[in-house]
Amino acid sequence: MAKSVIEKVFAVDVFNDEVMRERLPKPVYAKLKKTIEDDEDLDLDIAGAVAHAMKEWALERGATHYTHWFQPMTGVTAEKHDSFITPTANGGVIMEFSGKELVKGEPDASSFPSGGIRATFEARGYTAWDCTSPAFLKEDAAGVTLCIPTAFCSYTGEALDKKTPLLRSMEAISDQAVRVLRLFGHDEVKTVSCSVGPEQEYFLVDEKKYLQREDLIFTGRTLFGAMPPKGQELDDHYFGSIKERIASFMKELNEECWKVGILAKTQHNEVAPAQHEMAPIFSTANIATDHNQLLMETMKKVAKRHGMECLLHEKPFAGVNGSGKHDNWSIVTDTGKNLLDPGKTPHENVQFLLFLSAVIKAVDENAGLLRLSASNPGNDHRLGANEAPPAIISIFLGEQLEDVLAQLLETGEATTSKQGGKLNIGVHSLPELKKDATDRNRTSPFAFTGNKFEFRMVASSMSIADANTVLNTIVADTLSGFADELEGAEDFDTAVHDLIKKTISEHQRVIFNGNGYSDAWVEEAERRGLPNFKTMVDAVPELVKPQTVDMFERMHVLSKVELESRAEIHYENYAKVINIEAKTMIEMAGKKFIPAIIKYNTSLAQSINSVKAACPSADVSVQSELLTTCSAKLAEAQGALAALKDVSRQAATKEEAKEQAEFFKDVVKPAMDALRAPIDELEMIVDKEFWPVPTYGDLLFEV
Ligand code: ADP
Ligand code: MG
Repeated sequence: MAKSVIEKVFAVDVFNDEVMRERLPKPVYAKLKKTIEDDEDLDLDIAGAVAHAMKEWALERGATHYTHWFQPMTGVTAEKHDSFITPTANGGVIMEFSGKELVKGEPDASSFPSGGIRATFEARGYTAWDCTSPAFLKEDAAGVTLCIPTAFCSYTGEALDKKTPLLRSMEAISDQAVRVLRLFGHDEVKTVSCSVGPEQEYFLVDEKKYLQREDLIFTGRTLFGAMPPKGQELDDHYFGSIKERIASFMKELNEECWKVGILAKTQHNEVAPAQHEMAPIFSTANIATDHNQLLMETMKKVAKRHGMECLLHEKPFAGVNGSGKHDNWSIVTDTGKNLLDPGKTPHENVQFLLFLSAVIKAVDENAGLLRLSASNPGNDHRLGANEAPPAIISIFLGEQLEDVLAQLLETGEATTSKQGGKLNIGVHSLPELKKDATDRNRTSPFAFTGNKFEFRMVASSMSIADANTVLNTIVADTLSGFADELEGAEDFDTAVHDLIKKTISEHQRVIFNGNGYSDAWVEEAERRGLPNFKTMVDAVPELVKPQTVDMFERMHVLSKVELESRAEIHYENYAKVINIEAKTMIEMAGKKFIPAIIKYNTSLAQSINSVKAACPSADVSVQSELLTTCSAKLAEAQGALAALKDVSRQAATKEEAKEQAEFFKDVVKPAMDALRAPIDELEMIVDKEFWPVPTYGDLLFEV
């Protein structure tokens, strides 16, 4: 049978299992496979053979360089390219790549955020080959480069990246879930992994217009801008037919994704104008994270080839829906069983109910940590700000499971499961559809969707590593507590039943099936005692609370030092981002908007004078009124600009990272809002000819 278009390109640039089996000596392949699949220690003796095969494969495909590809705390990927050349005695070169070069790299670590773990004089950092995520080729203007996914740590072994804790958390949940499965008699299960499917939202805008706005260039979002006459109120963009220019972008994006093995699957227009989404098929957490990083990079690159700019910022336009990333998460055994699959009759599925209770308890007890894992300065414009999803963590279970749990709590036993039944559309020619047992709830930050949880808070521009590290760790720790309790039980059946009931009853406050966007929920959540962290900065202390530190140390995912450094990095990052935004506003207001408004006012004054000169009795009240209004707003803007400059200077004098971040949040941000307000109002008044930047209407509707 002829190969389809997709099969022809899929994974051609990946050093995947098929290539390894074909090219590696049998014993080498077998050993590597054991490390990848069974969590066995990596045998360094095989590195030389793997490096050789990788190099030969890469060279055949035109590669000139290789790089250790890693994910420092900046949240974007980093790479340092080395060519394969080695000089020969007779003045030529040969291509070499040793096992040592594959396994270990030594980038200068001092220029990456470390939150105080490492001063510049202790610059040593190491990258270590992560054989569980396949190497791939990247092709761009630099040529073809062999990219080797790696973890990044300091000289003293502390993690300096997002991958290391993620990998540690995957081992933790595997170990603890296997312990629990043993109690249910599943001796065949050796490991358990987490499946993750991230749905990525993004905006596309015209590159020429983008380049006229410093705010988009420097901060990724608009810092000024009035709403256009049309926004998203007609709901006509969501799932709408895709414009040609966007479609050609999507086509190329899919091809680029498929080549590097990303399982690009779903694409559609999103709620806001110029907003779109792409979702791959899920894979294990580590690969899904690597692929999501690669996807974001590829989106930006491909957009440029089509004369567009891809905005991954959480809130590029005020007043218009922003972007997020839905992190779909489940736990699966190496024998292929999804532990979050309730089956047809969840009330009888004790094992499922136990894992479900573990997730409920973990989420309830660590709501602040989860909130932080999805936080960056951009997401503060969404979470809790009348946009999807709220900042309060709650779990949506749906009718069926909620009913099972209610039976458990009321009578101590669940005896039935509501079934979905058939959906009658009322037209004979249309098929009768099988209905799910549960409807969806789009407003929940953490929703059970059939056989997985969908964590909907994650920021669109952020790595999904943090969110999944936290999820894996909190669930691993809860399972560990369950296993401790059940392993010692005399009567397992009764003990498990009691444990499920006790857990649900203690943590039912976190379950909420209603409208998460309503004000009533905010009050209700407060009554229930659920935390509501309004901003990222408020949530940072969650990372270093004694309970958090104990848990991360118990699960061997992050040490106290690593957690403290990460808290520091959060504060620093927040302060830096807001500082750049403030400086950009100062620059744009001072050099663009205020001069443009002065020109407009001058034109009004000139009009008044010339009309009066030509016809002294003429009515110039329109010009006069406009001039009065604009002059007043101009003065307001100038005052706000001076105030913003002043507080920005004060912010720079704060020494402690936490104190500085709080100052930016409490003082600088309000000063930014005060400057934006009069300028946005003026945008609605001033003649478009004078307005120095493309407007929201230009950016959102003319792609
Ligand atoms: P929706 O927008 O309705 O939530 P999508 O199809 O856009 O659905 O995205 C669902 C995502 O969830 C996809 O990435 C899909 O591969 C992923 N997914 C499906 N099943 C699982 C699972 N068991 N574990 C993790 N992710 C899953
Ligand atoms: Mg979704």
